[in-house]
Amino acid sequence: MRISIIIILLLESIFGMAQNSEKKPLIIESCNDSIDISANFYNIYDSLTHYSHPSDVLYNNWNTKRIHYKDENGIVKTDSILIILQDSIHERYFVQPIIGPITSHFGYRRYRFHYGTDIDLVTGDPVKAAMDGMVRITTYERGFGRVIVIRHPNGLETVYAHLSKIKVDTNQIVKAGEVIALGGNTGRSTGSHLHFEIRYLGKAINPETIIDFKHARPINNRFYLTDNNFRYLNRIVANKNAKFHYIRSGDTLSAISRKYHTTISKLCYYNGINQSAILQIGQKLRVR
Ligand SMILES: [Zn+2]
Repeated sequence: MRISIIIILLLESIFGMAQNSEKKPLIIESCNDSIDISANFYNIYDSLTHYSHPSDVLYNNWNTKRIHYKDENGIVKTDSILIILQDSIHERYFVQPIIGPITSHFGYRRYRFHYGTDIDLVTGDPVKAAMDGMVRITTYERGFGRVIVIRHPNGLETVYAHLSKIKVDTNQIVKAGEVIALGGNTGRSTGSHLHFEIRYLGKAINPETIIDFKHARPINNRFYLTDNNFRYLNRIVANKNAKFHYIRSGDTLSAISRKYHTTISKLCYYNGINQSAILQIGQKLRVR
């Protein structure tokens, strides 16, 4: 009995190695100036093993510790990248992880940027995988609480945070609609909800631009990712580089503009004031 198990394991490892060495090269089909990273979607999915991970051709690494993928080579610069969310012919579907009202949108919340969509739930409600894929992260993090990250063969990653219970393991293959966790209120969270993110090469996309959460379906089964989807990043960088001046007695806009090598009109633009605005001592003025 034990010998036969050993033989099976040996055969499996030999077969696995052979499979690995014969891994077919992945071809990115290109048409005009857009690339279709989903061209090999089904081949990749069908060959998912210990040796291959979804969207390997795009990510080049499989890190099971770091929640956010860091793109070392800079974002792939293309005019448009086709992402397939749903293809009924091949039985690849999108399933909304939880049905419920949206309680917080993607974007600035006071001074912090919120990279996902929050959906209301009751602790213990089942949370489902949005698409087929492989679980890359199952961990506890201070902000996210219990969190799962799944990488999908279409190039996207989805993040599910503030969970009360995780029901999958790292490296596990999951199908769209499979229950992966129970919702909760762990981490930096006030009230039970699901914090749901959609990322491409580590960069978040506003989920509401591609998912119709009210009707729990994709807005389009396929869409093109363009620079527009990441325009918000410019604003975050600009805000991070912002510099402030606190008004002192005798300060004028023209003196401040000279001091910070800027112009009065820029000061007015940054602060939403006009040139004749009266400055108050102690007032915080953005100068860059
Ligand atoms: Zn959130």
